[in-house]
Amino acid sequence: MKKLFLLFFVAIFACNSIEAKSPKTQKVNNIIYMIGDGMGLGHVSMMQLEGKYQPTAFDRAQNIALIKTYSLNNRVTDSAAAGTALATGYKTNNSTVGQLPDGTPVESITTKAKRNNFATGIVVSCYVQHATPATFFAHRKSRGDNDGICEDFTKEDIDVVFGGGMRYFKQYFEKQNKDYNKEFKALGYSLHTDLSKLNDIPAEGKVLGLFADGDLPSAKSGKRGEYLADATQKALDILTNNAKKNKNKGFVLMVEGSKIDGESHSRSPEGILAETRDFANAINVAMDYADAHPGTLVVVAADHETGGLSIPSNKTDFTLAESGIGYAFGTSSHTATMVPVYLYGTGANLIEGVMENSELGQKVQEIIGLGDKK
Ligand SMILES: [Zn+2]
Repeated sequence: MKKLFLLFFVAIFACNSIEAKSPKTQKVNNIIYMIGDGMGLGHVSMMQLEGKYQPTAFDRAQNIALIKTYSLNNRVTDSAAAGTALATGYKTNNSTVGQLPDGTPVESITTKAKRNNFATGIVVSCYVQHATPATFFAHRKSRGDNDGICEDFTKEDIDVVFGGGMRYFKQYFEKQNKDYNKEFKALGYSLHTDLSKLNDIPAEGKVLGLFADGDLPSAKSGKRGEYLADATQKALDILTNNAKKNKNKGFVLMVEGSKIDGESHSRSPEGILAETRDFANAINVAMDYADAHPGTLVVVAADHETGGLSIPSNKTDFTLAESGIGYAFGTSSHTATMVPVYLYGTGANLIEGVMENSELGQKVQEIIGLGDKK
């Protein structure tokens, strides 16, 4: 009987060690690159604290890193320079999208992935011409160049795009006396504009979901439901099917919790909590996908911290049991503090430590075989 027990334990130990080793040796085919715009450790801590320390998506992380966010011309970055670093692996000046300060364009992981037969996608809760998503497909000196960013979008071939920004596309096409419906059709997209029908969109082909003229409604308004989680799930379904049809190469999906930043500029703890929770719901969808699809790496990063959000104790006397906390903002702008990166899934062990935001951008490309030389 003792021998039997021993065998049993040896068998369990062997199984566990195989399981523990397999994520390290397996190839990464799919990247889900998630960016919390303006999300610092204060934001994540607020969510944990307000949830009474029940495990969150962030607590599921299998590895972590910290990134330095400064841009080439400012110790405090904006989303354009930080997005460029994450998307392309190159730092640039503030306001600059997908190119170096001298105007040299730099390719994003999305563009490289498509060129190498991966399926690609972008899911955001802001307008898709906004700085962060734009760094994944556009090359412009100014983040405010909406026409130019729309033009660059038409030159890209992205499988699925969900967000807002219909107004800017309409304006761009109208200036050329073109009809946006026809133009999107010519680009191969099926266009969807009704957010309430998001879950009914067929999970195949090229899909463009533009659910608002500008940004989608805020999470705290309750007017967008479980948009970010649902859109992430739908995008994953589409990308899984498209990747299968396309040599089964895998996919690269970028998902942005876009409006954490705006709520932090507004110094709204309620708004920050709602947007960070919404982003966390999408992270859970991505992590569940990684559980079910080995070969998937989830990278959750932030482009910078906004608000200088801290959670101070109400009293300085720590001999007291509990003296309450508050939410304090050091600024209504961005800050220069490092931001966290959470890794989950196959290859989570490959990114750790303290690094430049551009280094993270490079590493994510290398992991999926799209390093600079490719
Ligand atoms: Zn901002």
